[in-house]
Amino acid sequence: MKITDAQLKQIYAHAKETYPYECCGFLLGSFDHGGLVRQVRRAVNQNTDRTDRFVISGEEFAQAQQAADEAGLDIIGIYHSHPDWPPIPSQTDMESAWEEVFYLITSVHEGAPLNTNVWKLAADAPRRFIWIPLEIVDEHDKA
Ligand SMILES: [Zn+2]
Repeated sequence: MKITDAQLKQIYAHAKETYPYECCGFLLGSFDHGGLVRQVRRAVNQNTDRTDRFVISGEEFAQAQQAADEAGLDIIGIYHSHPDWPPIPSQTDMESAWEEVFYLITSVHEGAPLNTNVWKLAADAPRRFIWIPLEIVDEHDKA
């Protein structure tokens, strides 16, 4: 998946703001070329009592889908942070994941975003995440 440096910084800023809670949001873009992020869209984490969960409301999903439709994009991914935890999907992440969608996880150590991994459910059984290479570019080539 490809993301620009500026887009990744938006996610890092969000992760910093919500620390020690998880941040979450949408990656709008296209599935072409292994996934191209065009927009980072924040969502509100509805979970406020645990630091290891995120919940996005159905309403926000609908709004993100509408924004994507209007821009001619798809929701290609969901991002969230892992405060003081590695950027590896949790059991909850696994159970709630959708097929086809990229899951970008940023680990935050003592408030500072450290590193990021991207995952996607494997197309075949058993249900598991596979690691997806993330390419950070200055900007996307003008298509
Ligand atoms: Zn998680």
